[in-house]
Amino acid sequence: MRSPERVLPRLAALALFVLLAGCVSHVRGQTQGELEACVGRLQPAAQKAGIDTAAYRQFTRDARFDATVLEKLDYQPEFRLPIWDYLAGLVDDERVADGMAMLAEHRAVLQKVEAAYGVDPATVVAVWGVESNYGRITGKYPLVSALGTLSCFGRRQDYFRGEFFAALRILQRGDIAPERLNGSWAGAFGHTQFMPATYERLAVDFDGDGRRDLVDNSTDALASTANFLRRGGWQTGQPWGFEVRLPAGFDAALAGRKQKRPLADWGAMGIVAVDGSPMARSGLASGDKTAILLPAGARGPAFLVTRNFDVIYGYNAAESYALAIAHLSDRLRGGGHFATPWPTDDPGLSRAERRELQTLLTARGHDIGEIDGALGDRSRAAIKLEQARLGQDATGRGGQKILRALRAESTANR
Ligand code: CA
Repeated sequence: MRSPERVLPRLAALALFVLLAGCVSHVRGQTQGELEACVGRLQPAAQKAGIDTAAYRQFTRDARFDATVLEKLDYQPEFRLPIWDYLAGLVDDERVADGMAMLAEHRAVLQKVEAAYGVDPATVVAVWGVESNYGRITGKYPLVSALGTLSCFGRRQDYFRGEFFAALRILQRGDIAPERLNGSWAGAFGHTQFMPATYERLAVDFDGDGRRDLVDNSTDALASTANFLRRGGWQTGQPWGFEVRLPAGFDAALAGRKQKRPLADWGAMGIVAVDGSPMARSGLASGDKTAILLPAGARGPAFLVTRNFDVIYGYNAAESYALAIAHLSDRLRGGGHFATPWPTDDPGLSRAERRELQTLLTARGHDIGEIDGALGDRSRAAIKLEQARLGQDATGRGGQKILRALRAESTANR
């Protein structure tokens, strides 16, 4: 499909552009000047929130209006990843190998962290791996600008003001240098991707240098993650859960994270662990409240989850996310893949496979930007074209089918 710019005569395209730009600026109409005026108006509230006048001036001086964070705030994904794609990218061999290396490298610290907070190394490292790819991807938005913009425009300004002031208090205390306080568009930052208010509540100075540094200090970050989980109610020694097999005719309406029953009740219904081990295992008593999770419905893998799964869920309020951390922690303990396949004939891709797919797309002349293992809008547009060419369903989703087809072609043409 050709882009509209090529189809339309140039003048018409220009007119359309002017019209659209006019609409956008009319709707938005937001500027650096408005941000500065708003930041000025927030000063008394900031003072009440514990930020003195000089610090407020100093740390908000460089706040820049950032329209992109408002776009992210309103973004409605047209494309939702199926759970098997989500997990294939988050828990792949690469992240397992990197996590094993981190477990070895930080063994001494992780042992001290476990002694202090009661959370085992594999769980702490799994959170780290999923949150920031072990500190490698922590976000590039300067927090003061992002949170300042979100405090003054768009939805949820009250919430973001609380985070904005928390970020300024972090700077005022000198825990993190202003130029190092960068993160996601919404303000999650550092190895642990804590929001500033979460940082204030739960970050710890574990190396004892007087600063709670979650940006440049992995020791503080690992301990802070463990502290987050402990304060969320982590049960030391209890598993997050495990994969189970449901009996024929199991009523799927009984599943759901909040529908808790004693472990023994599930056993009485005929649910068994997939590996044949006892349901009541180390750290788990038959009376413990547990739930059954069916992330892809009754035909996909089933899991029995404990209170500790809820604690992991508390980190980001998404079951797919919690399952990624839980599964990665098992892989880091030497566990394998799920026994039950996902209910699809087109499984998801690891990041290495996504990079391979992007390389194949680029070789076919598609401009998909950087080969980064993240299948964004441009990669998906290219996949869609290739799927149509090859007679596959043109969904734009990157799975094993399109990868295999392009790989086979590329090998044949060599
Ligand atoms: Ca420290």
